[in-house]
Amino acid sequence: MMKLYSTKNRHQEFTLGEAVLKGLPDDNGLFMPYHFPKLPTKFFQELPKMSFPELSFAVAYALIDGAIPYSELEKIVYGAIDFEAPVVPLNNETHILELFHGPTLAFKDFGARFMARTMSFFNRNEDSELTILVATSGDTGGAVAAGFYDIPGINVIILYPKGKVSHLQEKQLTTLGKNITALEVNGTFDDCQALVKKAFLDEDINNHLRISSANSINIARLIPQSFYYFEAWKQVYDGQPPVFVTPSGNFGNITAGLFAQKMGLPVKKFIAANNANDIFYQYLKTGNYHPKPSVQTISNAMDVGAPSNFARIMDLYGSTWNIVKQQIEGYTFDDTATLKGIQEVFDKYQYIIDPHGAVGYLAFKEYQKKNPQDKGIILETAHPAKFLDVLPSPIADKVIIPERLAILAEKDKVSIPISIHFDEFKGYLMKR
Ligand SMILES: *Cc1c(COP(=O)(O)O)cnc(C)c1O
Repeated sequence: MMKLYSTKNRHQEFTLGEAVLKGLPDDNGLFMPYHFPKLPTKFFQELPKMSFPELSFAVAYALIDGAIPYSELEKIVYGAIDFEAPVVPLNNETHILELFHGPTLAFKDFGARFMARTMSFFNRNEDSELTILVATSGDTGGAVAAGFYDIPGINVIILYPKGKVSHLQEKQLTTLGKNITALEVNGTFDDCQALVKKAFLDEDINNHLRISSANSINIARLIPQSFYYFEAWKQVYDGQPPVFVTPSGNFGNITAGLFAQKMGLPVKKFIAANNANDIFYQYLKTGNYHPKPSVQTISNAMDVGAPSNFARIMDLYGSTWNIVKQQIEGYTFDDTATLKGIQEVFDKYQYIIDPHGAVGYLAFKEYQKKNPQDKGIILETAHPAKFLDVLPSPIADKVIIPERLAILAEKDKVSIPISIHFDEFKGYLMKR
């Protein structure tokens, strides 16, 4: 059965249920599995015939190893992985893995949908509902809200800063209804986060409600992100292990790829593509890890100054710089380069790439200067329709807005306004 430890203490075992419901161990490390099963040769032989949900189930079943019963795991995987992850070739070497076909048009849908169903499963024998508190500056809240929508036994309360999220992001948070409630806080994202943090420490609230977080470092978000590395590999494999290029911020997405490799997926190299927030790039170059305040860029989901999954990568490779450098190469590009990348992909291939994917494209091009024969799979982490305001306008005008985004604009916003005073937030929670 899958057992986990904290990156700060290998000696205490946790079950998957404990890790998923806690999110973070009390010592502030990160949960890691003790063991990555090697998938058998037979699995890779059969892979080309397997559908995305089928191979996802096979990977999950091997990794989770009985921590969730067969038929329940089947329901979770088939429920969560119900949209495609197609690979689109730009040329013989360069491939784009589109991860934006989910409800909120970004790869975070995979993690959020799987985590929601897994939490619901582990909460099944409790007689009270679980209340998830999330503070969001925009995107994560939308994926979490959509992921938990209509999931039994779980309520979600989202706190977002009034007037500080984009119009569409606000609609994603405030139009679902049912078990999703949006609190519109008259303050900043930091105020929202402070309210949530205080609620977790408040005795009255904890006695009244069972509260939990949908933290982005929950292990249940990483597990499903490993599935699409197999899915992409299946679509392009021709005997030559590919290079995966992952536009990275908190490094959860690339860590999931490293998990896939540990389970036997043949990968030539991982490439971590950074924007101007280049802490990991600097680490690869110098061996020194120096978190610093993030700077704002047009690939804003990667504006991270202290990547939260760094500890997992260190743990995977025994904190040995030389080994990390063999597995992962890093590149960094600023906004000017990113915009040129978007233009180039459009001019050369008539493909519209979003700013995050463009950073990945540029990284692969740089890598190709030394390795022209290698096959690259660039993870396109979001749909360009989410970034119309930063795309060059002739390109933005050509983006086809997916229907699920267009529909949102027509829906009515429902939110509860609150101030930044903790007593008001507490009063609201105590009345639930
Ligand atoms: C979250 C996000 C990223 C960064 O992913 P990490 O797992 O944090 O490295 C990249 N692109 C998009 C569009 C995202 O939403």
